Amino acid sequence: MHNVTLIPGDGTGPELINSVVKIFKAAQAPIKWEIQEAGLKTFEQSGNVLPEEVLASIRRNKVALKGPLTTPIGEGFRSVNVALRKALDLYANLRPAKSFKGIPARYENIDLVIVRENTEDLYAGIEHMVGEDAAESIKIITRKGSERIVRFAFEYARKHKRKKVTAVHKANIMKCTDGLFLSVAREIAGEYPDLEFEDRIVDNMSMQLVKKPELYDVMVMPNLYGDILSDLCAGLVGGLGVTPGANLGTEIAVFEPVHGSAPKYAGKDKVNPTATILSAVMMLSHLGEEETAQRIHTALAAVLAAGKSVTYDLGGTAKMSEMTQAIIEKMS
Ligand code: NAD
Repeated sequence: MHNVTLIPGDGTGPELINSVVKIFKAAQAPIKWEIQEAGLKTFEQSGNVLPEEVLASIRRNKVALKGPLTTPIGEGFRSVNVALRKALDLYANLRPAKSFKGIPARYENIDLVIVRENTEDLYAGIEHMVGEDAAESIKIITRKGSERIVRFAFEYARKHKRKKVTAVHKANIMKCTDGLFLSVAREIAGEYPDLEFEDRIVDNMSMQLVKKPELYDVMVMPNLYGDILSDLCAGLVGGLGVTPGANLGTEIAVFEPVHGSAPKYAGKDKVNPTATILSAVMMLSHLGEEETAQRIHTALAAVLAAGKSVTYDLGGTAKMSEMTQAIIEKMS
């Protein structure tokens, strides 16, 4: 039995997490959930979006599954997601984008992996007003941060028998910050002669991904480009409802969908649980529970391929709970 911290999250988060809990119960997954609240709920109760108990629970269990957490734009608290990643030093954000049979998308055989640096760049949160009419934000890129994320990408590529790693940057303009990231990427690439390496400027990469996604494999990049390109890749495989993610450190792993809390659909039993279920499947693989992971994955893939019990974003009319039930029935 594995102890896992479970953060239901905000907006549609609790419903999505409930879908996973039901599926795991039906699959008899050997998981003992430890529920921890964070985000808007705890902010209203105690003024703290990320209570120390949540961090302590994740540090103890080493593994967590979380629903999305809301971050109001502009005023209010800083992103709790960013705070969580920084507090636990979850430096690698792994975001696979893979086609599924039955999911309507522009391409059929997409199999891309984004490795996003998760702790530096413009997300360092060093931002201030300069007088009333100007503002500054500082972009941080370090050798240590670049080395570990690029090495993570190469190790991932090797372990998963991928062929190529592409470093994404804007070193032509940001010669110091992205220049450092690129030169570190080139150095580390030399340690992996078995894998192909190339680099792309982020604007060109965006165009290439839309036109010729089959040319790419594993991509590694600083935080902000990773945030943007992972949504682009989600769009290539059917949208935010289907793309999972993992935030990984040296010891701790927090799994969550790429998408946000979709607050306008909260409580409506409407959004697609696929991204959260796939994040939970990644978590099972991480825990070495490959057989249960495969069983859930196969049932989900069958429901998606049949196309009947799927949610609105995939062209269906099923509620989230109906899609969840259909997946459970496929497992029995
Ligand atoms: P969002 O991902 O919540 O929604 C973007 C669009 O995708 C919306 O149209 C939404 O309805 C749709 N969508 C999202 N998830 C879906 C699903 N499972 N099925 C079907 N459609 C889905 O992004 P947003 O509106 O920019 O952000 C809402 C809130 O979420 C913000 O407060 C943001 O800060 C937060 N957020 C949190 C995380 C996280 O917790 N990791 C990530 C991104 C955004």
